[in-house]
Amino acid sequence: MDQLKERILREASILNQDVLKLDALLNHQVDPLLTQEMGKEFARLYAESPITKVITVESSGIPVAYATALALGVPLVFARRKKTLIADPDAYCERVPSFTKGIVTDIMVSRQFLSPSDTVLFIDDIIANGDAARGLIKIIERSGAKLAGLGVVVEKSFQAGARTIREQGVRVESLVRIASLEGGKIRFE
Ligand code: 5GP
Repeated sequence: MDQLKERILREASILNQDVLKLDALLNHQVDPLLTQEMGKEFARLYAESPITKVITVESSGIPVAYATALALGVPLVFARRKKTLIADPDAYCERVPSFTKGIVTDIMVSRQFLSPSDTVLFIDDIIANGDAARGLIKIIERSGAKLAGLGVVVEKSFQAGARTIREQGVRVESLVRIASLEGGKIRFE
């Protein structure tokens, strides 16, 4: 998506050689028309899969996952971040380290919203080390649902997340791949 690359070059800022600040596009402010284009692109990439639900993790994955679900005509489920450690027998839970916050959070999906008859498309904003994605993939596997693939808006390909998930046999599609942030410059693949 050239349009997305241009917007990233114009509106993102580099925090350090590992982290790109994308508040203007993904993590604080959202451009509905651009987000809708992202959703259409994911829907096009996965058009051959019999997707019954789109799934993401709150909060930054929700707008693009919503746009994808709308384009595919299926419901959107978002994993919630849990504040309490009380075990919930009605939910699948996983503990995931947070890349940007440096803390561990629990994510949960109610059993009610994932079943073995589902084929889910997992959409997320950014992939770095892949911990958040692996957590939700474990939940999807435990539910018995099939995973059509993962769609991420920004893949930082200099970090291992997307590669290791592909090595697990999961189809991963990214709209933009960033090869490096070194020297204060965004270098796309
Ligand atoms: P991972 O679990 O793949 O290491 O990190 C994934 C999550 O951390 C993303 O959903 C995103 O919210 C956040 N994240 C990782 N890298 C970046 C980054 O460079 N910039 C921003 N804004 N968020 C990031």
